[in-house]
Amino acid sequence: MTRALIVDDLDHVLEPGAVEIREVLISDSEKSVGLAFICPCGCGREGYLPTDVTTQGPRWDWNGDRERPTVRPSVQFVGGCKWHGFLTNGEWRAC
Ligand SMILES: [Zn+2]
Repeated sequence: MTRALIVDDLDHVLEPGAVEIREVLISDSEKSVGLAFICPCGCGREGYLPTDVTTQGPRWDWNGDRERPTVRPSVQFVGGCKWHGFLTNGEWRAC
């Protein structure tokens, strides 16, 4: 189990499992919200989970908690380390 360190900006953060709640402006009135994170396995890879309903394609449900986030469904890196697990109450747990 890995505690998700919540950071304002994931750049230069190497902590496995670190999470940034990332809001990206996609137009003057719309922004996309998602969770950027460093793979909990320690491989250093960064992932991104879109969570807003306007996103096309895969999307995760986020409970809106910015300190101890929960997202569903599970998270899996399809390439590289192939880590697979869940983020629940701010903790990463491998399947
Ligand atoms: Zn990994």
